[in-house]
Amino acid sequence: MRWTQLFIPTLREDPAEAELVSHKLLMRAGYIRKVAAGVYNYLPLMLMVLNKISQIVREEMNRQGAIEMLMPVLVPAELWQESGRWQSFGKELMKMKDRHEHDLILGGTHEEVVTDIVRKTVKSYRQLPLILYQIQNKFRDEIRPRFGLMRGREFIMKDAYSFDRDEAGHKISYQKMVDAYYQIFKRCGLDSIKVESDTGAMGGRMAHEFMVIVDTDGGEDVLLLCDKCDYATNLEMATSIAEEIPQDSHEKPMEVVDTPNAGTVEEVTAYLGVKPTHLVKTLLYKADNDYIAALIRGDRELNETKLKNYLHAITLDICDGVTVAQLTNAPVGFAGPVGLSGVKVVADTEVMKMKNFVVGANQRDKHIVNANVHRDFHVDAVVDIRNAAEGETCPACNKGRLYSRRGIEVGNTFNLGTKYSGSMNAGYLDENGQEKTIIMGSYGVGITRTAQAAVEKFNDDKGIIWPRSIAPFDVIIEPLNFEDKAQQEAALELYDKCAKTNIKALLDDRNERAGVKLNDADLIGVPLRLTIGAKSLKEGKIEFKARSSPEVHLIDQTQAVWTAEEVLAKL
Ligand code: ATP
Ligand code: MG
Repeated sequence: MRWTQLFIPTLREDPAEAELVSHKLLMRAGYIRKVAAGVYNYLPLMLMVLNKISQIVREEMNRQGAIEMLMPVLVPAELWQESGRWQSFGKELMKMKDRHEHDLILGGTHEEVVTDIVRKTVKSYRQLPLILYQIQNKFRDEIRPRFGLMRGREFIMKDAYSFDRDEAGHKISYQKMVDAYYQIFKRCGLDSIKVESDTGAMGGRMAHEFMVIVDTDGGEDVLLLCDKCDYATNLEMATSIAEEIPQDSHEKPMEVVDTPNAGTVEEVTAYLGVKPTHLVKTLLYKADNDYIAALIRGDRELNETKLKNYLHAITLDICDGVTVAQLTNAPVGFAGPVGLSGVKVVADTEVMKMKNFVVGANQRDKHIVNANVHRDFHVDAVVDIRNAAEGETCPACNKGRLYSRRGIEVGNTFNLGTKYSGSMNAGYLDENGQEKTIIMGSYGVGITRTAQAAVEKFNDDKGIIWPRSIAPFDVIIEPLNFEDKAQQEAALELYDKCAKTNIKALLDDRNERAGVKLNDADLIGVPLRLTIGAKSLKEGKIEFKARSSPEVHLIDQTQAVWTAEEVLAKL
């Protein structure tokens, strides 16, 4: 294609609103433009990339026997009410009403819709197993849409759903999808790792996430991995074996002490001269309609996913200062479990091993020292609600040390069990005519997020460096002066030759300064550049450069396309 016949609005400057390098580059290089928070135009180059990723996804899904279809975006509320997710999906669900005041949603995932089709069509064990998938725009009212395509309110997803007779069958389907995913990301030029994850809003029994490791802010997820075995888990789910802290042998008398202006763990422990490991933090939350006091050791971080899962809560929000004051009669920083009423006290398992620790006294500028569980306050539940940490012992092999990496979740796989088939009555008759419930799985790939993950991973100070398999073009032909007849002829000849092979070429036919053209070529990230300049052309040569390497080779004009073919095959 010719540049002038495309729409590639590149920018000189980084857009102010973009934080991530990938977001900046996609804006600057003319791939995307924002319409509203988390809603983007996919401009022509972006669409080419998305189509390439979709095609790879399609081929790998088809290879595993999955069948493509397309479900509606507009979904009646009744289906979601039937599964219970009308409530439990929370505010992320994009709800609307039609002119008859009928509730509808814009689909953010399609377990309900697909279960509805299957319950109406599948009757016999002979029709199973079945894997259906689609590639479609999804809608979620994300609390914090950000980072460009990484977390949008409208985004493109491949979602697949498996239907099996039993768990053994499900295991086979699940493995097919896992195999497809490794292949998909590999073909997109991305190494992915599979980690255990929370089942979250999908529900079900077990889940994995596919992560692209990036150690930038783009890696929204923190992962913990073992250095000795294959334990790999999202921090949300990670457990560990932690070293125990020596404790006093006897309980000492509890005492209220002054801690003027000391509300944080650092301030209180510095003032009292104790270690954070001898303090218990009291964090107040509202879980749906209940108030919760979560107790955790002073040096630990609370894991909200673990707490939320334990409580089976739809929403979990930390209390603001006004609520903290109502519940404790004190400002933030002085809450403690002793004498606290009207809240459910959930203690982390480590707290139960502590003796003579510091807690807030529920009075301004006061803490309690030598507090002890049972003797001084009641605990309603003991649960692991802490974040596992780097350096701790692996819970799987009991030998290795955990280390952490950051990742972008590009896909995931869920064993849904009978969560939807049970509540929505999707069954079949087995060989003996017995009524059985279908076992389901659900499998997502973020097409738009995968595209941006590749940019977050592959770039330099000049722009994007696309992996060949998902680049919008294979080659960019750059006549430095397109007005010059000889250069124009040479460029068109190369362009025609490319068209005769399977090389997808972009011809920069703009009458721009050479510097602008070369900068733009680097910015948009096409894997190979063939540059035609007046001087070299006189000797029948052109400049050959791979975007990923600084080396420039002068090659024979007649050899250019042939060489490009050879180099591209290796990319
Ligand atoms: P996250 O934890 O990042 O919110 P999720 O668990 O909600 O993701 P799923 O509901 O399983 O994600 O969706 C499947 C895939 O769709 C994800 O693995 C991700 O690649 C992509 N995805 C999910 N939410 C978004 C979003 N808001 N914007 C872009 N892609 C998304
Ligand atoms: Mg989400």
